[in-house]
Amino acid sequence: MSGALHYHLRKGWFWVKKRVYIAYTGGTMGMKLVHGRYQPVPNFLQTLMAANPAFHHAQLPTYTITQYTPLLDSPNMTPADWSHIARDICDHYDEYDGFIVLHGTDTMAYSASALAFMLDGLGKPVIFTGSQIPLCEARNDAQENLIASLLLAADYAIPEVCLYFHKRLFRGCRVVKVDANGFDAFDSPNCQPLAELGVGIVVNWGLVRPWPQRPLPTTPPTLHELTSPGDVGALRLYPGMSARILENVLQPPLRGLILQTYGAGNAPDNDPEFLRVLAQATARGVVIVDCTQCLRGTVDLTKYSTGSALAEAGLISGYDMTPEAALTKLAYLLSVHDDVATIKTQMQANLRGELTGPVI
Ligand code: ASP
Repeated sequence: MSGALHYHLRKGWFWVKKRVYIAYTGGTMGMKLVHGRYQPVPNFLQTLMAANPAFHHAQLPTYTITQYTPLLDSPNMTPADWSHIARDICDHYDEYDGFIVLHGTDTMAYSASALAFMLDGLGKPVIFTGSQIPLCEARNDAQENLIASLLLAADYAIPEVCLYFHKRLFRGCRVVKVDANGFDAFDSPNCQPLAELGVGIVVNWGLVRPWPQRPLPTTPPTLHELTSPGDVGALRLYPGMSARILENVLQPPLRGLILQTYGAGNAPDNDPEFLRVLAQATARGVVIVDCTQCLRGTVDLTKYSTGSALAEAGLISGYDMTPEAALTKLAYLLSVHDDVATIKTQMQANLRGELTGPVI
């Protein structure tokens, strides 16, 4: 990559370094061992970075770190935190070429999916990253993940919410955390990585939205706040789940449910009570989306009668969406539309690359 790529012509007559905004929300990357347990400690990450020459390399863009208060271990994140991050990015959109969200790995797939829907018409890269071992340890994955994210956010025009981890850049609304311990913690089973980093950086440009459908980097995205994300839920089916349990979950205020079914989207069709509970809920206007428990592959409600029974009960297909993407997409659609038929149609359409099919 030529050095000039790290710079761009600003205001038409002088070259300046690219600028990246880092929203530091918490997570393992900046944690410290306190009384034998890792905890996020304010300013600890910045102190380590300031003392580490790797973060002052001439090829890196200029970056600003905004530390959130409190720094969160990501299981403590809520949709209010997604709003905070999305607003922060919009507030600084004009001043930076790209954005990094430093985030704990546990709920990073949910946050990345949520922001993909909340930031509509994004024209600059937003890259979520974190690490499995904190930067303070001699052997860690924090340094590589952060440095690679800085280079990608500054120099590669990939205008979407992404997630970078262990040499791969993924589409944010396609990722799942697949490993609690390994460096290769994330995967995107139904979508190729957007980029792979080895000796060189290879971008899969065929997956990146082409010009002229791509939003211009100069036009800020429209921010859609999630108005009542708590009205959406997810339930993983298991053999013997009673209709009573399902009925309880489907009570108001629930307005949308991601039902994680077996295989190609199947559930028992020999329990009339179970199907009646589902049909009554969909008749009341509850949107129930059928997503598979399998990591790879798609829901096909026409394949087996155990699937078509669900379609007859009013469920819609989640196709090959991850449960994380489906949950946040449904919360987003319930925030921007009132009409259940429109929500169902949009839920089955490809809005941000979250399911396989042409983007609308
Ligand atoms: N519990 C941590 C978190 O999600 C794990 C990590 O960052 O890897 O914040």
